[in-house]
Amino acid sequence: MVELRTDVLVLGAGMVGVGAALHLQKRGRDVILIDRNNQAGEGTSYGNAGIIEAASVFPYMFPRDFAPLLQYALNRHPSVRYRLADLPEFLPWLARYYLASSPERALHSAMAELPLIRRSLIEHEELMAEAKVLPDLLRRTGWLKFYRTDATLATAVRDFERAKQYGVAGDVLDAKGIIAREPNLTGDFAGAVYFPAPGFVPDPGGLAKAYAALFGRRGGRFLVGDARTLEQYGNRWRISTGEGSVTAREVVVAMGPWSDQVFRPLGYSIPLNVKRGYHYHLKANGNAVLNGPVLDADQGFVLAPMNRGVRITTGVEFANRDRPPSPVQVEQALPRARALFPLGEPVDAKPWMGARPCLPDMLPVIGKAPRHPGLWFDFGHQHHGLTLGPATGRLLAEMMTGETPFADPSPFAVERFG
Ligand SMILES: Cc1cc2nc3c(=O)[nH]c(=O)nc-3n(C[C@H](O)[C@H](O)[C@H](O)COP(=O)(O)OP(=O)(O)OC[C@H]3O[C@@H](n4cnc5c(N)ncnc54)[C@H](O)[C@@H]3O)c2cc1C
Repeated sequence: MVELRTDVLVLGAGMVGVGAALHLQKRGRDVILIDRNNQAGEGTSYGNAGIIEAASVFPYMFPRDFAPLLQYALNRHPSVRYRLADLPEFLPWLARYYLASSPERALHSAMAELPLIRRSLIEHEELMAEAKVLPDLLRRTGWLKFYRTDATLATAVRDFERAKQYGVAGDVLDAKGIIAREPNLTGDFAGAVYFPAPGFVPDPGGLAKAYAALFGRRGGRFLVGDARTLEQYGNRWRISTGEGSVTAREVVVAMGPWSDQVFRPLGYSIPLNVKRGYHYHLKANGNAVLNGPVLDADQGFVLAPMNRGVRITTGVEFANRDRPPSPVQVEQALPRARALFPLGEPVDAKPWMGARPCLPDMLPVIGKAPRHPGLWFDFGHQHHGLTLGPATGRLLAEMMTGETPFADPSPFAVERFG
């Protein structure tokens, strides 16, 4: 078989890999995108809540207040569960996450990521226009986060007041205001914060596929292959694919929660971990309409009006990435979601499970691998990979092609882990 040659191999065709591939291609690089699946957007990027979180300033921090901590420890908080048998594996990572969530360090992470967040929707809108998927795959619904107790609402309003300093717009709503936005919701609401800026994608996997199709129309190639076959080959990199081996001068690791399959054998001990999460679709009953995504903060789930049905997405499960699914949070959320919104027949046979790729300091790893010429990292986008895929793709491509990066890349360097 003939050996294919290219400039750059991008490993992983989720939102992050596709975003990087498109931006490299725009800068004149010949790129081959590789995935173990025969289509883009079949991993974590398929199953998220579809929110382009353009109003998110502060990352998802480890709580430091006693009441939620106790609930987490007792496995009683609906937003977070952990698998007891996996806890020893997670504890050192959780300790680092806890330390990185101190007010000063969390602010540092938030400020590092803010330029990317601010760029997120702009980048998506540009790519969506080029991929000709507007308006079908972007709804400007904003995001409604509601609270059932005065205490949780007060915390949310305080956080919103802080976020306002960084340009985040929003409205605090009372129960009437919630019903005015979402007339089909029922419940006892203390109030909500409504953020108008976030975009909503009703088919996140479809969006990754549309971006991959754009990449293909512009001459990019997509091949099925296993990234674990990657090896150094002189001053190039080589990988086996369904169409034979491919070599490239440079390679980008963008395999989200599976990125360790490449960096670990190469000797990097990067503290990548996962926060698993689930979704499940149901039909809306009768004429009931959900206008946009809503977070039931105290009950720990999001309802989102996807093309496939109303998608319930859960909070976080700390468990080993490769353990079989344990969708307890879906089971807990289902009756609560039915009480909140008129839901009918299930659409899915069983819940889908995904794994948010996370670093303890809540920032992705983007940049050069220090010990391997031509190796680049772009993974660990935690709760914001749909949001940030195209923006971080731009940042990485600017670094790889010697352009001035639009944001300071130093906080994302892998060297921060020693
Ligand atoms: C329940 C849930 C809700 C979420 N909601 C949101 C949201 O509303 N907004 C938001 O911005 N983010 C959200 N996220 C986070 C977001 O989905 C992730 O951060 C994002 O999908 C990560 O993208 P990725 O491209 O890095 O990884 P992935 O999409 O997982 O892509 C990695 C790719 O690597 C491929 N791969 C793996 N191993 C190999 C191998 N050996 N060889 C070749 N290919 C391989 C996989 O097949 C996959 O296609 C949510 C996540 C979850 C779980």
